[in-house]
Amino acid sequence: MAHEVTLIPGDGTGPELVEATRRVLEATGVEFEWDEQPAGEDIYAEEGTPFPDRTLDSIKRNGIGIKGPTTTPVGSGFRSVNVLLRKELDLFACIRPCKAYEGVRTRFPETDIVIVRENTEDLYAGIEFEEGSEENAKLRHALEELGEHVREDAGISVKPISRFGSERIVEEAFSYAKANGRKKVTAAHKANIMKFSDGLFLEVAREVAKRHEDIEFEDRIIDNLCNQLVSRPEEYDVIVLPNLYGDIVSDLGAGMIGGLGLAPGGNIGTEAAMFEATHGSAPKYKGQNKVNPTALMLSGVLLLRHINEDDAAERMERAIAEVIRKGEKVTYDLKPSRDDPSAVGTSQFADAVIEEMNQ
Ligand code: NAD
Repeated sequence: MAHEVTLIPGDGTGPELVEATRRVLEATGVEFEWDEQPAGEDIYAEEGTPFPDRTLDSIKRNGIGIKGPTTTPVGSGFRSVNVLLRKELDLFACIRPCKAYEGVRTRFPETDIVIVRENTEDLYAGIEFEEGSEENAKLRHALEELGEHVREDAGISVKPISRFGSERIVEEAFSYAKANGRKKVTAAHKANIMKFSDGLFLEVAREVAKRHEDIEFEDRIIDNLCNQLVSRPEEYDVIVLPNLYGDIVSDLGAGMIGGLGLAPGGNIGTEAAMFEATHGSAPKYKGQNKVNPTALMLSGVLLLRHINEDDAAERMERAIAEVIRKGEKVTYDLKPSRDDPSAVGTSQFADAVIEEMNQ
């Protein structure tokens, strides 16, 4: 039976990347029934919303989607589609595999890690009090009564980390590790300084780890983790982190494997999962058939694994890796110099992957 999947082309270079990825996913032989839906800047211009209800309804109905990047114009008043998606669907986990494929120029060729980032809590929860505001003054006075002094001219962001949020993200990390043959989960934190937020995250992580004794568990203080990732990346496997550290380490991981054009992602919730590249809409290359579709294609590989099409996922990942290893039919960013005339376009990269899969 065909898998019903919501397909969101997005804007900027999104539609080209999504089309290339859709073709490769279909070439695996897995059957899809695509439910194409709009999101982003273009639909905002037409309908006054970047995220129409019919798009959300489609994802809720299908429980799974793949999405091209969407632009968030600065100062336009429209909210990020990605933030809306995460909130509406409670996509609490962001999974970002960072694997250095042979043929990519990187200083860290041993890298093969999976970052599992909590998506809903922490300093990104949006609980903020502007300097000089009435609410800020109320909060400072309440803190004063509790014996804590905060300077009058301070802006304040609150960092909530709950037992509930920590438990489900660490469980997700262990379940990903098990489903994907991974051996170890590392929890990263700053529990020595933030005892009641990161400290709780660590305490819960240790409790959850006891339920999964077949997978090794360790913890690292976040600064030490960053140091070790760039000196001994081969020692790390699955890394689970609260929201802020997860955001930063995700980009560190993308840099370690050769750039944004190669970093896939999946946002997972209890009711739905949405797969998309880590990078943005790269609007300056819109319509030029130029940018690298690898990150979105590898997000497609994650999608295949999510729907238990492991064999197809394996074949698709191997074909992408082989095209990159050969280094001939690859986009400009994977060539030794960015103006290399032998670079191919987004669509031709997809052709090369399909050709490789059919061999
Ligand atoms: P970006 O990731 O779109 O692009 C930055 C630069 O990285 C590009 O100019 C290009 O040189 C390079 N790059 C990115 N993707 C590439 C690819 N696939 N192949 C080759 N090179 C690539 O970041 P930005 O310019 O900061 O953001 C543009 C827009 O995208 C913003 O509006 C931002 O809010 C949005 N954004 C969306 C998402 C998403 O939809 N998931 C994620 C991040 C940013």
